[in-house]
Amino acid sequence: ARTLRIGLIPGDGIGKEVIPAGRKILEALPASLKLKFEFVDLKAGFEAFEQTGAALPEKTVEILKNECDGALFGAVSSPSKAVKGYSSPIVALRKRLDLYANVRPVKSVMTAKNPIDMVIVRENTEDVYVKEEKTYDTPEGKVAEAIKRISEKASFRIATMAGEIALRRQKIRDSGVPSIHKSPMVTITHKSNVLSQTDGLFRSTAREALAAHKFASSVGVEEQIVDSMVYKLFRQPETYDVIVAPNFYGDILSDGAAALVGSLGLVPSANVGEGFAIGEPCHGSAPDIMGQDIANPIATLRSVALMLEFLDEEVAAAKIYSAVDANLEEGRLLSPDLGGTASTTQVVEDILRRL
Ligand code: NAD
Ligand code: MN
Repeated sequence: ARTLRIGLIPGDGIGKEVIPAGRKILEALPASLKLKFEFVDLKAGFEAFEQTGAALPEKTVEILKNECDGALFGAVSSPSKAVKGYSSPIVALRKRLDLYANVRPVKSVMTAKNPIDMVIVRENTEDVYVKEEKTYDTPEGKVAEAIKRISEKASFRIATMAGEIALRRQKIRDSGVPSIHKSPMVTITHKSNVLSQTDGLFRSTAREALAAHKFASSVGVEEQIVDSMVYKLFRQPETYDVIVAPNFYGDILSDGAAALVGSLGLVPSANVGEGFAIGEPCHGSAPDIMGQDIANPIATLRSVALMLEFLDEEVAAAKIYSAVDANLEEGRLLSPDLGGTASTTQVVEDILRRL
């Protein structure tokens, strides 16, 4: 048996309602998987900031680093006005733990009119997000500039991760989770027709990474210029399997793709580094619906599965994906964001029953 130690960071608002659901599904996995879990409750977020003076208490980082195999992060509220000393804990966590990839699968039910099943793999450490900006005066007025930094190292590792994800998705399909895709495909996103050096480096390095022996025979590789990609993403989203993108395009594409499946309550993500992954639903703390037991837990349950994938537990992940898909396809117990009347508790119970 393998024991995994998982940090639980509910954060604020509905994070406190959905993260306990994530814990429940791990505890409900069949014994035949020979997986045991230990949980550590950790603080981060606005409430933590008000209580301790730190949005990301040092203890949380230390415990994640030294004791945990993975973690689940709910959502945090950011104050509507800037508050001195407060900054986003998830951004800080990505830096502190070197979680260099943001992985966002977007999947509809197979019975949808236009079913989609893609994952966007976004580089998360560089590009224009290095935040090296400056503003200066000229006779014609102010000019502002930002650095867009693309490195071979970061491009290589993100493309390698995309290739590995493509292979793993095939394994999960082979284990019986239905999909619209027949074989793995990675699409490299760039704008190297204009940015020949920065995006050119991303493109050629990604090509090189995906030509590695372990991918060459089984993972198809194609490229797409980012603007035409947006067009195709809206018109023919079913064509995409794995998309790999530099930070900025990845940010925009992943929010856009999430809109294709109807509710933020369905979309998971993972922040991934070397040997560590944090599952995180894409939605925020949703203060408008907190405390009513109506938040959709599926984004979190899928984030749990995604975290398990990165801990090399594909079979356990596939069980969760199948149980969630079955709940959605039957469509009897859906939360209000999907037009149903079921409570968070009822949706979770229905999914656990299907494991
Ligand atoms: P939000 O994602 O919290 O909510 C947007 C809308 O979607 C709301 O109407 C909400 O009710 C609905 N919604 C979100 N998740 C849902 C779910 N699981 N089930 C059903 N409905 C759901 O975004 P927002 O309203 O812009 O932000 C609210 C707070 O969350 C802000 O303080 C914001 O800063 C924070 N936020 C945090 C994160 C994060 O922690 N990663 C991400 C986005 C926003
Ligand atoms: Mn974004």
